[in-house]
Amino acid sequence: MIKLIEMNIDDEIDPCEDFYRHACKKDQSDHSTFVNIIEKSFRNEMDELMKSDKHPIFPKIVELENFVKLLDPKLINDTDSARFEYMEKCINNKEEARQMLLDFNKLIYNHDESDCCFTNLIFDTDCERAADNLIKRLKKKFNDVAKKGKKSWNNFLKFSGNFKAFLWTKANNDLILRSRELFENLREDLMELIEETPWLINSNTVEAMTEIANQLKVVDTEMITEFNQKEVNDALDSIEKCTFLTSGTAKKYCYATIEVPRCEVNWNRVNAMNFHPYLSLTNPVLSILSLNLTPAMEYGLVVSILGHEYGHTLMRSKKDHILVPYFSENVTTCVQNQFTRSCSFFKEGLCETEIMQFDENGADLFGGHLTYEAFKKRHSCVLNKSIRGYEYCWTPAKLFFYSMAAVDCYRENSESNPDDPHHASKIRVNAVFAQIPDFAEVFQCDAKSKMMQSRSEQCHLFGSKAPEFF
Ligand SMILES: [Zn+2]
Repeated sequence: MIKLIEMNIDDEIDPCEDFYRHACKKDQSDHSTFVNIIEKSFRNEMDELMKSDKHPIFPKIVELENFVKLLDPKLINDTDSARFEYMEKCINNKEEARQMLLDFNKLIYNHDESDCCFTNLIFDTDCERAADNLIKRLKKKFNDVAKKGKKSWNNFLKFSGNFKAFLWTKANNDLILRSRELFENLREDLMELIEETPWLINSNTVEAMTEIANQLKVVDTEMITEFNQKEVNDALDSIEKCTFLTSGTAKKYCYATIEVPRCEVNWNRVNAMNFHPYLSLTNPVLSILSLNLTPAMEYGLVVSILGHEYGHTLMRSKKDHILVPYFSENVTTCVQNQFTRSCSFFKEGLCETEIMQFDENGADLFGGHLTYEAFKKRHSCVLNKSIRGYEYCWTPAKLFFYSMAAVDCYRENSESNPDDPHHASKIRVNAVFAQIPDFAEVFQCDAKSKMMQSRSEQCHLFGSKAPEFF
């Protein structure tokens, strides 16, 4: 595991000069970043799971996925292929031709009976004429279906990926439990900080903040279905129905009629979401917890993500529901200043600190700080001891910082995107580490180093040293 993180390190760059570029090589290929390797191995693991017999729906999802991948959306408009398919069957195999007609009965008229609708075409001895007849009658119906086809299939592929992720979570409940345990450590530390925070005390909001901080809980990918349980069930019923159709054309049209639930979150990427009061880690993040991690790595790789998401609950949010009645202006200014300063020191492209970025910037500084303190508190005795087998360079404290940076090693993210409320990864990592007081000590950075120079005033978002007033 350490190797995965070690791989991204650029020894040419001094950690005190630019930690992000030291920990995340600039020329690393997209396939060799830690995040990429995790995502890929997660996808493989999921494919394996789908092949297993743990759940009857697994093989169906895979079968359908493969089928949909093979579909050419253009074909759906092409009734000629249906015509040809029927003619061929009519000439060579009457039973198959009859089955195809039954499929269309089922699909279009929702009829199982053999004496309904299309079935009488089987008595026509002129196969060409029967096929023409069939197509004429289908065309009207097909047109509606065809319009939906492409969109529906693309949605389906997204949906099936997410649905597989959901099934994977069900099979890996222990990882959710572990993430909850780690989250409770953060909560415990946060509660102490809230009680001591002067701007909360002076504005009489300690109780409100405590309540809000207590509401957040880690949930699993059930979130996908919690929001649209009915659509998921309907889609599954339709999938079931389509798999019983035997004719290629009817099957194709059948799948095109499936209404697939919207999937806004890609559960196959390393990510997390705060839908207060629900906090959700995507599956690849959870899968990191299944690796053989030291506490430093567990905190750096996963708890840091929980910490960031926790931050979103506490920052003044521009989203629909404002959880916190007010947020300290002094804190806001301090956070933004740090990001502006880091931006000017480390920019590689577009770089500006906008007010719409405060939620993310605040969550970054808050989360980073809380996570490091939580780790330090629980593992203080080993913090600066060398790690066996890596005596010369690794201590748990160092490994924490490398791990936390590794989650943000995306090659494309060295530049801010004006539509993205997050700063570029490079700025995020360097700003947060500049603000963690122990960083300088752990890497022995002197005051003249760029990392230390880039550090603005120490921001105390919560705790006894936080500002007096909001
Ligand atoms: Zn965020």
